[in-house]
Amino acid sequence: MSVNSKLYEGKAKILYTTDNPEILLADFKDDATAFNAQKRGSIVGKGIINCSISSHLFQHLEAQGIKTHYIDSPAANQMRVKAVKIVPVEVVVRNIAAGSLCQQTGLPLGTVLKQPLVEFYYKNDELGDPLLTRDRLQLMELATEEQVATITNLALQINKYLQGFWQQCGITLVDFKLEFGLDSQYEVILADEISPDTCRLWDATVDDPNLRVMDKDRFRRDLGNVENAYQEVLQRVLKAVESNK
Ligand code: UDP
Repeated sequence: MSVNSKLYEGKAKILYTTDNPEILLADFKDDATAFNAQKRGSIVGKGIINCSISSHLFQHLEAQGIKTHYIDSPAANQMRVKAVKIVPVEVVVRNIAAGSLCQQTGLPLGTVLKQPLVEFYYKNDELGDPLLTRDRLQLMELATEEQVATITNLALQINKYLQGFWQQCGITLVDFKLEFGLDSQYEVILADEISPDTCRLWDATVDDPNLRVMDKDRFRRDLGNVENAYQEVLQRVLKAVESNK
């Protein structure tokens, strides 16, 4: 496979075209941003760690029948993916209240939700990724009603499988963000990444609200030990993958 030109550079990944128009190469970067890129930095080793965690999680989901853009990982920080047309919506699934849900509703941090909450945010940095209603999704023609129903269903299924996987790792899945795309058959498939950058992951055996954080909140909130936390998540993922073989 020869790598051609840079197609797109995002905050955490660079996408390259390949000699096959249906396949792209994603290069995971160590760069870290938060608060709509107002805070910038670097997490050493993050590219390799997030690519590896994402690759394992996509393979785990594929084994449960969830279609993803994952093809393979030709290098430690690189993933070959199916080219998709990204639905410009960030799909957030929450099991426990944290982050913007607490800020916007007043729910105390750590409140266990009676059922998972699926939310849609408009993927638009200039507008600050605003929360969407289903009516606004239709109004802006970001996705059809059928696609929204499919995405909601997939997001809930993915949550169930990921909760089980993270539990095996001794990690509580608080919330996470997904992105979906349309493949060449116009089918909705899971895209982007699933990593400590895009999930809130709490060490299930630790009560201290700062010490338990194993995700990008360590970077966002200057909690320290960011690299160690990412590395620890990867080690636990590798152990779980090994024991599932
Ligand atoms: N998230 C993400 N990218 C974004 C916004 C959120 O990956 O642009 C993830 C975030 O890591 C968390 C979940 O989505 O796991 C919910 O984030 P929230 O809405 O609470 O926003 P935040 O507090 O991160 O600004």
